[in-house]
Amino acid sequence: MSIKEEAESLKDKLVQYRRHLHMHPELGFQEYETSKFIQEKLKELGLEPKVWAKTGVTAEIKGEKGDGKTLLIRADMDALPVTEANDVPYKSKNEGVSHACGHDAHVACLLGAAELLVKHKSDFKGKVLLVFQPAEEGPGGAKPMIEEGAIGDPNNPDIDAALALHITALADVGLIGVTDGLLTASADEFYATIKGKGGHGSAPHMAIDPIYIAGQVITGIQGFITRTVDPVDHVVFTWGKVVGGERQNVISETCRLEGTLRTHRREVRKKLKEDIPEFIKTTAKAYGGDAEVEVITGYDVGINDPEINKSIRKAMAQNYSEKAIIEREPIMGAEDFFDFSLEGKIPVSMFWLFAGNKDKGFVHGNHSNYFDFDENALPIGTTILVDAAMDYLNTH
Ligand SMILES: [Zn+2]
Ligand SMILES: [Zn+2]
Repeated sequence: MSIKEEAESLKDKLVQYRRHLHMHPELGFQEYETSKFIQEKLKELGLEPKVWAKTGVTAEIKGEKGDGKTLLIRADMDALPVTEANDVPYKSKNEGVSHACGHDAHVACLLGAAELLVKHKSDFKGKVLLVFQPAEEGPGGAKPMIEEGAIGDPNNPDIDAALALHITALADVGLIGVTDGLLTASADEFYATIKGKGGHGSAPHMAIDPIYIAGQVITGIQGFITRTVDPVDHVVFTWGKVVGGERQNVISETCRLEGTLRTHRREVRKKLKEDIPEFIKTTAKAYGGDAEVEVITGYDVGINDPEINKSIRKAMAQNYSEKAIIEREPIMGAEDFFDFSLEGKIPVSMFWLFAGNKDKGFVHGNHSNYFDFDENALPIGTTILVDAAMDYLNTH
């Protein structure tokens, strides 16, 4: 039997796993039941799961063909604070929380892959490190797992490469999306407090208006970025939250801004993380005010390794069809899977597992309260993870 046929024979089980997880979604770092479920399934396969960062789980599968590299395969496991709008038999039982990003599918595919990799130990050399990671939707679970030692000493890690998939219904089931090189953006959080001086709305000259200053910062920052960053570099800065003021005729003391910075290059990211706070402070000072800016470092830029992609493409071509591989453009979204690259030291790759189906109504984007997908994608995900992993380990 081919890996594809074996994965197809696991389909009912994969659907069961997915539906169980879908009915019991948990938010980041609260995935205790999900974690327990995963550990039980791994133990049933004779593996020895280890727990990291509260709910994260790893397990090793050693190939019996000899020594070789270690490939990490990662599935994230957290849900979102989204109330599911679909009326399906497997609807979320946890009110206000749902697997609107399909991480239930990622766990199911990786549990399926674990089962087949255990069965096929004698067919590959090296090692697979299964990683079930919490809190991808924030604040990020990859980093705490790495810091706790899940991949050994980060300065001399126990892994040589990393692989992951992400499900989406934005193209039809049966297809996968592959991108060589740049895939996702870095994401950092900005929290600014503009400080002014309160006063009467009729007498701005006797006060310092932090809301006016915030206005200058909000619009000015877009020009600041386009005039100081090379236009060939992609950058997005969005203020997602603005809070200030008490009432219509009062100038307030402060105004608070919260925003996100996305970039596609580590150098640009580093520069803007320094320059943007400076811009905000300088703008505030120009109007007699001041500003405090806090920057919280988020996810790294996502750059896919073409060598790992070769194994992904080969797995898809030999089990399905070369025509089922779609080349995809990079996005400004971010993914903490790429933190496992240790800032580019470890080759990593994530591919899209398409699971859309217009006839069944699976057309909604990730994070939508209507998000759902065609479960026929589950054995495809398992197949690609298994065959790509074995191919990569046997050829590197
Ligand atoms: Zn998501
Ligand atoms: Zn996701």
